[in-house]
Amino acid sequence: MTDREILGGIGVSAGTASGAAALVTPAAGVDPNEPASTDPAADGQRVREALAAVSASLRERAARAGSETSRAVLEATAALATDRGLAKAVDKELAKGSGVTRALCDATEVFASKLRKLGGYMAERVTDLYDIRDRATAFLRGLPEPGVPDLAEPAILVAHDLAPAETATLNPALVRGIVTEAGGATSHTAILAAQLGIPAIVQAKGITQRAAGGTVLAIDGGVGEVIIAPTPSDVEELEQRSRRRAQALAGSSGEGATRDGHKVKLLANIGTAEDAAAAAAKDVEGAGLFRTEFLFLEREAAPSIEEQTETYASVLESFGDRRVVVRTLDAGADKPLAFADLGPEDNPALGRRGLRLSQAREDLLHTQLAALAAAHARVPDAELWVMAPMVSTLEETRWFAEAARSHGLPRVGVMVETPAAAIRAAQLLDVADFASIGTNDLSQYTMAADRMQGELAHLLSPWQPAVLSMIRATCQGGAATGKPVGVCGEAGGDPLMALVLVGLGVASLSMAPSKVGAVCAALRLHDLDTCRQMANFAVDAPTADDARAAVLAIADPVLRDLV
Ligand code: PEP
Ligand code: MG
Repeated sequence: MTDREILGGIGVSAGTASGAAALVTPAAGVDPNEPASTDPAADGQRVREALAAVSASLRERAARAGSETSRAVLEATAALATDRGLAKAVDKELAKGSGVTRALCDATEVFASKLRKLGGYMAERVTDLYDIRDRATAFLRGLPEPGVPDLAEPAILVAHDLAPAETATLNPALVRGIVTEAGGATSHTAILAAQLGIPAIVQAKGITQRAAGGTVLAIDGGVGEVIIAPTPSDVEELEQRSRRRAQALAGSSGEGATRDGHKVKLLANIGTAEDAAAAAAKDVEGAGLFRTEFLFLEREAAPSIEEQTETYASVLESFGDRRVVVRTLDAGADKPLAFADLGPEDNPALGRRGLRLSQAREDLLHTQLAALAAAHARVPDAELWVMAPMVSTLEETRWFAEAARSHGLPRVGVMVETPAAAIRAAQLLDVADFASIGTNDLSQYTMAADRMQGELAHLLSPWQPAVLSMIRATCQGGAATGKPVGVCGEAGGDPLMALVLVGLGVASLSMAPSKVGAVCAALRLHDLDTCRQMANFAVDAPTADDARAAVLAIADPVLRDLV
């Protein structure tokens, strides 16, 4: 029996859950010790058997799939696993003397590049092909099947780390919670978990070892606590926390405003048309960040203008006459898109990502802007705002504003994600109509700490006084030009930090819809003067911990149940 134990981590998506752990198995890769092939015919047969086993297991999953779409996807992948072209490519590699897993890996690359050349639907299949390779490799090496397990019952997913593409496809009806060893609070995986409303914890060191074999876990995604093998009283305590939170949240619906009526728009972060429909049905005043690249994470080919127009029109329709802030493609760094790849870089986070990539691939940007304009023409009542990610200079701002305005887009803004943009916000806002602070990247670049590097979580905190100074500089730029400044990074969804941001002059806060209620409740409990006082205390504090403690000390005590 597993002993009860409490593990600390970083809570990235509030809520409590308990259930059996389901482990995500990492892909095994080529066997480094395998012998060269001395009998290619027999080895070819072994690989065919592995591929047939993968195909059979995928077909079994297809038969149990919850939706028609997943069934069709799984069936198609099962068919690809037994494609004769792939087996023949493996034979060629074996004939060169490669061992079985090396041959499979190299043959997959050859086959993948053929599919890519065919483009369109065939190019889309490359991701499935890699999935087949990983499963067949595990079969050949006698290791467990990799990837997110096929859940028959609700469980808590435990992984070393999850890729954004894996997280995006999770089924919230079956995944009660997520706990990972690695990952940071602003990693895109954490963001997607909050987006799906799944309680989640990152940086829970040792969890993959401790949670092997279906151990029961109880988690609190707000405070970042995992209880391994919880007692009944642990579960009861968690339920009590949940009830207190629900009480604190009760009655916090409606427009965002401080106790004395200072309005702050509360908006939703979305990544897909489904997100939009779900968020629009909630009590939000619009969408403050539509991460359009989330639509295309697994795509091998650029989406057509028609397809994009459909998607954007559907998002605008969902929100009726409410505001929708669309961010143009923010590809690169931890969100590589196969069709927007400019080649390997030593430091992708400092490389050609975001707007820089759009400048190298103007075709992609103009197609997207044209699709947005067409969608707006179809839904003219929508309040469409468009902004660019990763802006650093006035020239970039001018370039983007000109491009967007040339398509007739009415409101054009920039994201403030670099210190360069923050300290020159007034100049950028002379050209742009609005600014939206991406606190995730702004923390990363201000503190020179990779947001994917969970070990540096303390540096990535938006409570760092240096980050708060950057936010203040941006708000001062907004005040000087009379242009609105919003926040759409994860900091906006932290109820305590939201008070500070409002005190600094932020006009709108955008966050995962699951976080809006707590932020709304926090604002209602405080007046604007208190928020301003909190902002001063936080910016002047010597350290991040001091900043947070100073704000918590003057906040309403109910906030302790909300964070
Ligand atoms: C940010 O950087 O804060 C942001 C909102 O953009 P993303 O998290 O998608 O990089
Ligand atoms: Mg960003």
